[in-house]
Amino acid sequence: MGGIIFGPVRSRRFGESLGVDLSPYVKQCNYDCLYCELEGKKAQDSMESPLEVETILREIQKGLAHFPNIESLTITANGEPTLYPYLYELMLRLEDVKGATQTLLLTNGSLLCEPSIARACLLFDKVKFSLDALSKEVFKKIDRPSKTINLEQVLHGIYDFSADFMGELYAEILFVKSINDSLEEVKKMAKFLAPMRLKRLDIGTIDRPPAYKVERISEKQLESLGRIFLDFGIPTFVAKRIESNRQENLILTQEEILKTLAMRPQSLQDISTLWHSSTKKILQELLQSGAVERIESNGEEFFRIPYDNKIQ
Ligand code: SF4
Repeated sequence: MGGIIFGPVRSRRFGESLGVDLSPYVKQCNYDCLYCELEGKKAQDSMESPLEVETILREIQKGLAHFPNIESLTITANGEPTLYPYLYELMLRLEDVKGATQTLLLTNGSLLCEPSIARACLLFDKVKFSLDALSKEVFKKIDRPSKTINLEQVLHGIYDFSADFMGELYAEILFVKSINDSLEEVKKMAKFLAPMRLKRLDIGTIDRPPAYKVERISEKQLESLGRIFLDFGIPTFVAKRIESNRQENLILTQEEILKTLAMRPQSLQDISTLWHSSTKKILQELLQSGAVERIESNGEEFFRIPYDNKIQ
């Protein structure tokens, strides 16, 4: 199915969804977040070699034919999906292809201030944006945005979009120890989010190997930060490290394993509970060949595609 479609991915919060990767071959993002689960890479303002809308629609059609019962299509990217220059056209034409399937956009929110991009984002059923800081210094430190990005404009864009968007709006904050977890910063974020009609705010911390050497905050601290957002009247969900003990027995091909690990490193816990023994056997072969590596991050073991983990 090429590298554009991945999954299905099951999430307790968004049900079963098929991922659509608008930049399947290389990371392209206008941020270079400390905590990114993808390789650290200099931020860029535009997408190079964007895929044809036709190609993406064809892959989505194949994906939907293969998995007719999925609840949603999650539009994402190895990086930031709103950098895709034909997002509006893709969304318009997707209407004829997707039937009753819902559409979900995962974005860093930085380009919602651009009217042409906001117009495309308004066509989604659900939008989840991330917000990591309200002060300039913290924003620069944690998200390492491209030089053309101005935090004030980003915040205005998110705010205006939240007023215009008719679908379900979600926000996400990822906390990194000693970077964006001060009480002052948290209260600023809560004040900013409180007036929005958020379906839910998800807060979490690092639980996959990050692009740079940064640490997670404790579950206790996360819980107490969650209470601050609740005090501001924001429906808040605190993401716990281990979400499931279900036995899924996922059978994946070698190509699907590589794609899954390229999108998101998997912990030993994920693999033991979710993957079928035949999938684990292929993973062992990939480990032996060096196509996959086993690493330790924040006290847990993970499997991922190797890359140079260097500060740029
Ligand atoms: S975490 Fe998201 S926004 Fe940040 S660098 Fe990675 S892909 Fe970009």
